[in-house]
Amino acid sequence: MDPRLDDDLVQLPDLLKETQEHAVRLLEGLAERPVAPPPGRREPVALPERGEGARGALEAFARRWEPGFSASAGPRYLGFVTGGSTPAALAGDWLTGALDQNVVGDLDSAAAGLERETVSWLRELLGLPVAYEGAFVSGATMSNVTGLAIAREWIGERRGVSVAEQGLAALGPVRVLSGSPHSSIGKALSVLGLGRSALRRVESLPGREAVDVDRLAEALRELDGEPAIVVANAGTVNTVDYDDLRAIAALRERHPFWLHVDAAFGAFAALSPEHAHLVDGLGEADSICVDLHKWLNVPYDSAVQLTRRRDLQARVFQNSAAYLGAVGDDPDFVHLTPENSRRLRALAAWFTLAAYGREGHAEIVRRDVALAARLGERLAAMPAYRLLAPVRLNVVCFTVAADPSRADEVARAVAASGEAFVTPTVYAGVPALRAAFSNWRTTEADVERVAEALARAAG
Ligand SMILES: *Cc1c(COP(=O)(O)O)cnc(C)c1O
Repeated sequence: MDPRLDDDLVQLPDLLKETQEHAVRLLEGLAERPVAPPPGRREPVALPERGEGARGALEAFARRWEPGFSASAGPRYLGFVTGGSTPAALAGDWLTGALDQNVVGDLDSAAAGLERETVSWLRELLGLPVAYEGAFVSGATMSNVTGLAIAREWIGERRGVSVAEQGLAALGPVRVLSGSPHSSIGKALSVLGLGRSALRRVESLPGREAVDVDRLAEALRELDGEPAIVVANAGTVNTVDYDDLRAIAALRERHPFWLHVDAAFGAFAALSPEHAHLVDGLGEADSICVDLHKWLNVPYDSAVQLTRRRDLQARVFQNSAAYLGAVGDDPDFVHLTPENSRRLRALAAWFTLAAYGREGHAEIVRRDVALAARLGERLAAMPAYRLLAPVRLNVVCFTVAADPSRADEVARAVAASGEAFVTPTVYAGVPALRAAFSNWRTTEADVERVAEALARAAG
């Protein structure tokens, strides 16, 4: 054994303890460190010929890289839609690394059983029918890729071909309809060979990001019975608008289409009694995408994909090999996801659900929603800013009242203050800013600090 490795083995308990103490110091400083420091430039260092051991690695990391890392796990990082990591989720994530399971199947470990239990807990949490089966993937993008891959195979089934077997050439063109799809849908269509241009944007309701269901019905009618894919959106990133899922699902009585719902963070509306109606009809989707590293507050990278047609999923993703066993009626995860070898991502989610249950996670959602509303009120009262949409759930979308073209500059000024991080966007053609609440740590005092930083940034 390499002497440094041998040494680390002997000192393993101390090394883990020191790393843990280091992590504790980081977490204790999280609320006060610059929220989004400029990444800066570091002189490249050559690959060490002889390493410095784990302690040396920790020191080098803390010195060279850590100061440039964001406080994205903290309470005032409101960019994109970014969750933190609950204490239990972090503990579960540590153990994931310690146990280093490869969740391929049931041959050698109960890990796959834990993943299945976690999927069923998530289904219960979100109020979804038991007809859905699911698997963990790395994020909502991969969840969308997986759901749309199953959709693609379904179109093949309708046309009497199998894309998995015969390839895309056998399938012919496919139309994908959506109102305000997330950018990852275009990426998914590119990856799947359906092509970004397969996506047709259907008009939204006036002043909304929710699709106009009448227009969608028209677009489907024009397809004249050709099977299609509809991507419905449950929580758009700019204004957290929701398509009318029930009305869209009902269109399947007249038109053949696969209904994929991108509910990356919007699915969590189910946890707030006042907002649960937004996801009415989610349980009628053919496939659903839910991110977990956003509002479930587990560490990156984690999402779940859910479908009612696991048979088609296994057709797409099966990885038959003598030593992996037959696919069968109850396929192992290796036959269901893009990856073969897979980290036990489910453990962090299992830990946080076991630790805080439905009540704990509902409280996080309700609090974040209330805090977004509070920031919305604060900004509405400032002459410097103008809200661009009502605060429907956990995102505040606003712009600089006098001159929206200053939105970028304001976002940079807020980041430079170290106090908060919000991301620029463009909404309805207007340069804008978004503040998204999905972290379990955020409090009213944080909202005050964010409001003050924004007030100063507007100058
Ligand atoms: C965040 C998000 C995605 C992409 O998620 P990743 O986890 O970054 O892959 C897709 N759709 C919606 C609606 C999102 O909010």
